[in-house]
Amino acid sequence: MNRTLLIIDDSKAIRTQIEQIFADGNLFTRTLQAADGIEGFKLLVSNDVDLILCDIEMPGIDGLKFLAMIQSREDLKEKPVIMLTSHGDLNTKVRGLESGASDYITKPFEPEEMVARIRVHMQIKTLQDELRRSNQLLLELAQTDPLTRLCNRRYLYEKLEIELNRCFRAKNPLALIMTDIDHFKKVNDQFGHQVGDEVLTKVSDMLQEELRTYDLAARYGGEEFCLVLPETDLEAACEVAERIRHRAEQMKFPDPMHNHQLTMSFGVAAYDGTSNGSIDEIIRLADDALYEAKNGGRNLIKEREIS
Ligand code: GH3
Ligand code: MG
Ligand code: MG
Ligand code: MG
Repeated sequence: MNRTLLIIDDSKAIRTQIEQIFADGNLFTRTLQAADGIEGFKLLVSNDVDLILCDIEMPGIDGLKFLAMIQSREDLKEKPVIMLTSHGDLNTKVRGLESGASDYITKPFEPEEMVARIRVHMQIKTLQDELRRSNQLLLELAQTDPLTRLCNRRYLYEKLEIELNRCFRAKNPLALIMTDIDHFKKVNDQFGHQVGDEVLTKVSDMLQEELRTYDLAARYGGEEFCLVLPETDLEAACEVAERIRHRAEQMKFPDPMHNHQLTMSFGVAAYDGTSNGSIDEIIRLADDALYEAKNGGRNLIKEREIS
């Protein structure tokens, strides 16, 4: 595994000594060196550093200031920093630990002690990284529909609340599109549930392709989808719906569905940005419009403006 150690110390002799301690490559495959806090910070932001050994007493940006700089950055504050302190300087040790350092090593140090301590911190870091990764994965799983990889309904409500508030504050419009595959039951009946699943996945991929990065596509129900378009008025949202309607019509499927023409119906609702509204209201109106599109013969777009 590639691991990088950053050594920050104004004494070249100490930097070289530490570099030699880790020269066998067992713990680190690369070491970087800096003579003060600023130089160290620059190396830290431009390299993937796993652990930092940082002298406390340095001219200019010293160890404590360096710690403060790291703590101000969300992406860096979890990096393990081991301070290099002078013997007996209890006050500084305590301040360093309170400022976010993971530990300290007193100078002069024994190579064995340095290696042993740093090994412990690398083990802690590995466990923390794994924990962060699995938490992130769990979060994604909790927000995602497993078949289509779109957002699930729960996450839709969460996000819609945030987006509605954001748009109201800025007096921006917000649109919501409800869309449902027409006569999808026939797909299942004629070609089987598994082919039906493949159609759902393909439609979902197409929806994602048609949206901007800050839009959101969610699977609302079986073959029903909900698209949230922040800062989009009714007219623009209807254009998006028309593009999707057209793409659905043009979709080609492999055997045994190659002759099947898919269509989708749409209900579009939008706040114009002048009034406060609610998730329930916008979903209800988009649903209403979708119902009208179904009753009107399907493969249609119907709209509701909320002002
Ligand atoms: P309409 O045009 O009125 O929407 O007709 P429809 O047949 O699409 O609507 P209906 O609500 O009658 O049927 C929806 C079908 O979608 C029934 C259900 O079995 C199917 N379905 C729901 N979820 C899934 C799924 O995850 N996979 C598959 N293959 N089918 C699903
Ligand atoms: Mg020094
Ligand atoms: Mg349907
Ligand atoms: Mg349906």
